[in-house]
Amino acid sequence: MSATTAVLAATDARGYVADVIASLETAHADQPEFLQAAREVLQTLHPVFERHATYRQNKILERLVVPDRMIIFRVAWIDDHEEVQVNTGYRVQFSSSLGPYKGGLRFHPTVNLSVLKFLGFEQIFKNALTDQPIGAGKGGADFDPKGKSDHAVMRFCQAFMTELARHIGSRTDVPAGDIGVGSREVGYLFGYYKKLLNRWTGVLTGKSPYSGGSLLRTEATGYGTVYFAGEMLSASGSGLDGRTAVVSGSGNVAIYATEKLTQLGARVVTLSDSSGFIHDPAGLDAEKIEFVKELKEVRRGRISEYAERFEGVRFVPLSEYEVTGGVWAVPCELALPCATQNELDASAAHRLIEGGVRAVSEGANMPCTIDAAEAFHEAGVLFGPGKAANAGGVAVSSLEMTQNAQRERWTRDQVDERLRAIMHRIFEHCQDAATEYGVPGDYASGANIAGFYKVAEAMEAQGVV
Ligand code: GLU
Repeated sequence: MSATTAVLAATDARGYVADVIASLETAHADQPEFLQAAREVLQTLHPVFERHATYRQNKILERLVVPDRMIIFRVAWIDDHEEVQVNTGYRVQFSSSLGPYKGGLRFHPTVNLSVLKFLGFEQIFKNALTDQPIGAGKGGADFDPKGKSDHAVMRFCQAFMTELARHIGSRTDVPAGDIGVGSREVGYLFGYYKKLLNRWTGVLTGKSPYSGGSLLRTEATGYGTVYFAGEMLSASGSGLDGRTAVVSGSGNVAIYATEKLTQLGARVVTLSDSSGFIHDPAGLDAEKIEFVKELKEVRRGRISEYAERFEGVRFVPLSEYEVTGGVWAVPCELALPCATQNELDASAAHRLIEGGVRAVSEGANMPCTIDAAEAFHEAGVLFGPGKAANAGGVAVSSLEMTQNAQRERWTRDQVDERLRAIMHRIFEHCQDAATEYGVPGDYASGANIAGFYKVAEAMEAQGVV
């Protein structure tokens, strides 16, 4: 390692980053989601290399884009019809520079290595931005819990944990939930880990409060996304009160984003699921939100039921989504994509801009395509990238690890106060890095630069490993 402090010329820095992107594209042409996430981050990092030439000499970037290790395993289990089923399980342990691997598990038929590498890569920067001592990982399986009985889900979780258990631990790797993995699945996974190891530790987060979970963990991602939107708006001299908001999804991120927006005086007029979306011009209130919680978290039903239950609500099935433009065609000032990756493309972004959107805060991971994010940037729309805006979930997971390690339990208010403070600091990191590196107001670049800087410094300190 060289100790030189020489700076790199701007054109050299751009060329260097472009070369790293090009070699990734050659090596991983079969991993489109990972390439998209890597491109989005890398293309914003050249100003960092101009100032920190040692990062290039130490090949920080070339090392960071390769996970520490990837574990892929067979999950064999028996379904309710006594048939043997076989799924593929994964854990991508991406980076342990800042702490134990930390990140969720996703159970969804679309799960593959590309998706999990994109999620794990995003997690590096997200977790760094929280200022919590957590590294980054992601895992899951191509298993679809939709329509499965509780017993079938439990058997799958136990089969999955039979292998995963040997790779995780409260100081090694601490998984949590993501799409398809909520407190039911985390409960089954935790129970089986405890059975296998005969050890009660905070090896998973997102547990129910009865199993040692943190209060407010369920709400944290959605609430945090709204706090981040509030930070962006107040920095530009306005606020959330009285704003019309469009939210996509109806999982836990969407539900609790809606709840917090409503509490703070905004009017949420849409929600969606894989069957279509609802448009409720009157807006959701506390009673309607309770209905959605019961519908989605208990009965696991379809969002169309919302339109049957409440007056004046339009349900648009997925088949008409293309024609109508989906939730993004509904005029609004705030847009919170809280469903899944690439749900908001450039044409949706243009519809939102035409509809008067002022701020976009990503509740999901990478819900906006690169073109959509660029369109918002060009139109001067405030844009909170997922790795900053949705970091409240993993931040409270880290607070859950702290509570478990200290054998303590904090009140809801104590956790909320910490969550607010963390979201405020994340916003400041994005804002400060954007200003310092010559792209003021560009929170997406700011998030990438601030997250990368912290990890790069840790990697340099820890040597070539
Ligand atoms: N899956 C969530 C995320 O995307 C949460 C991860 C966690 O709590 O560890 O950040």
